Amino acid sequence: MGEFELIRNYFAAAPCAQAGEGVALGIGDDCALLTLPPGAQLAISTDTLVTGVHFPDVCDPFLLAQRALAVSASDLAAMGATPVAFTLALTLPDVDADWLHAFARGLNVMAQGCGLRLVGGDTTRGPLSLTLTVFGRVPAGQALTRRGAQPGDLLCVGGPLGDGAGALTLVLNEREAQASTAQALLARYWTPQPQLALGQALRGKASAALDISDGLLADCGHIALASKVRLVVERETLPMSGHLLELLGLQAAQQAALSGGDDYVLAFTLPPGHLAGLQAAGWPVHVIGRVEAGEGVALIDANGQDIPVLTRGYQHFRETR
Ligand code: ADP
Ligand code: MG
Repeated sequence: MGEFELIRNYFAAAPCAQAGEGVALGIGDDCALLTLPPGAQLAISTDTLVTGVHFPDVCDPFLLAQRALAVSASDLAAMGATPVAFTLALTLPDVDADWLHAFARGLNVMAQGCGLRLVGGDTTRGPLSLTLTVFGRVPAGQALTRRGAQPGDLLCVGGPLGDGAGALTLVLNEREAQASTAQALLARYWTPQPQLALGQALRGKASAALDISDGLLADCGHIALASKVRLVVERETLPMSGHLLELLGLQAAQQAALSGGDDYVLAFTLPPGHLAGLQAAGWPVHVIGRVEAGEGVALIDANGQDIPVLTRGYQHFRETR
């Protein structure tokens, strides 16, 4: 199978590659063409996943595709953007029809779940790696950035933390769990659900936001730096799933919630006046701390005492974990 046949069979023919809102021209030309409504801005994000670094060398292509696209779509959620389209640059060691079929199927499941259309890409030979670029639209000036947090705001997250890190111990065969626990955690790892609707609901309300990919404390550090404020995290308020607690126990679960990556849950700062309305409307908003004047990220216990933090999160090109 040649490059063009491969693109045609597995990608151009996929349901998620067919025309849709905002896509004036999809796969097959030198560029895709996207149409934005008047007054909208285009939100763009790129992520690369490399075999052996971001996912195990041997893994299920159906799940891998879903995870890769979910991770990218999560960046749109974090900006409060409405998904429009994505491109896929795929580097493959060889052409394996079964693998491609399963991969394209997984891509399609997540793309349709997120409302994203595949509009182009590139296909090359080499060690397996995926680069996905997502495009979303957001009313001009309303994107949720990392820079607007103000002293007095609440620090919130959109769901349980630490499941990604807990699941990774299963993915890497470092731990074993009961079937139901393993199933729930592995689903959170392989098919994270980007909080797209929550992100859009936070437009005009949250003062800063991001999605937690490197661990809560590390990612809060990004908001603190960009907004020139101090974030205070109250350890006892962190939402955690029963599955995570069962797998790791309280202490290790808290560590996973604080420093583990791969959760793809939104973290955001919120002027307190917006809290009741969002919660009453059913949005998953968990208050885990507050914004103060100052800098950096502090972790406190139930008595307000500072807890020293050793490992803050995962960074490539750094030896600490
Ligand atoms: P060019 O050489 O002009 O960049 P390509 O031969 O790389 O074109 O790709 C032909 C068309 O197929 C383009 O529209 C491109 O966006 C699309 N395409 C290539 N690879 C993929 C892929 N993996 N997924 C989706 N579309 C792809
Ligand atoms: Mg090309």
